[in-house]
Amino acid sequence: MKVNNVELVISAVKPEQYPDEGLPEFALAGRSNVGKSSFINKMINRKSMARTSSKPGKTQTLNFYKIEEALYFVDVPGYGFARVSKREREAWGQMIETYITSREQLNGVLLIIDLRHPPTKDDVMMYDFLKHYEIPCLVIATKADKIPRGKWDKHKKVVKDTLDLVKGDEIIVFSSETGEGKDKVWGILNNWGR
Ligand code: GDP
Repeated sequence: MKVNNVELVISAVKPEQYPDEGLPEFALAGRSNVGKSSFINKMINRKSMARTSSKPGKTQTLNFYKIEEALYFVDVPGYGFARVSKREREAWGQMIETYITSREQLNGVLLIIDLRHPPTKDDVMMYDFLKHYEIPCLVIATKADKIPRGKWDKHKKVVKDTLDLVKGDEIIVFSSETGEGKDKVWGILNNWGR
């Protein structure tokens, strides 16, 4: 998809604020600092529309980006901050869980992980959570530019094994620096759910 029009429609703190036009939604999940905002910005051709690295203690919101009047990217707050309080973690969990398990418009979740390292415990937990609720999932292994192309397959295999990837789920090697994987991801999103 060639993206020209993107609008941050709402940073929602509760379900009543979610958009209600019924457009398909794709949620973006990943641990903090993994490169989620950079992924969104690359996909929508913006330098800094999606906020980078929301810090703990800030209000945790679901950010709905409307793309070409066709679909939404829903930016989910990053997980895995060691420093956040138990209460904050619980609030995060509740908002995400409610959204992911009950949102009709949700077509799937893009789980962003770092190609350089094995998925963390939190990544595995997130993947298992999505599988448990039978949410379609695409794994985006980003920061690929940071390792030589010849090692991508080896790293991809580690990701696959660590997540215990279910047959049919795909891993897309991505780079927000070079745009590697971008067309592939758009191709998948355009056909998802059809
Ligand atoms: P977020 O917290 O998940 O939204 O992460 P950000 O998008 O803010 O990225 C965290 C850091 O990683 C920033 O310094 C980015 O510039 C860097 N980064 C993100 N994606 C890539 C990538 O694909 N390649 C490289 N080399 N750096 C990246």
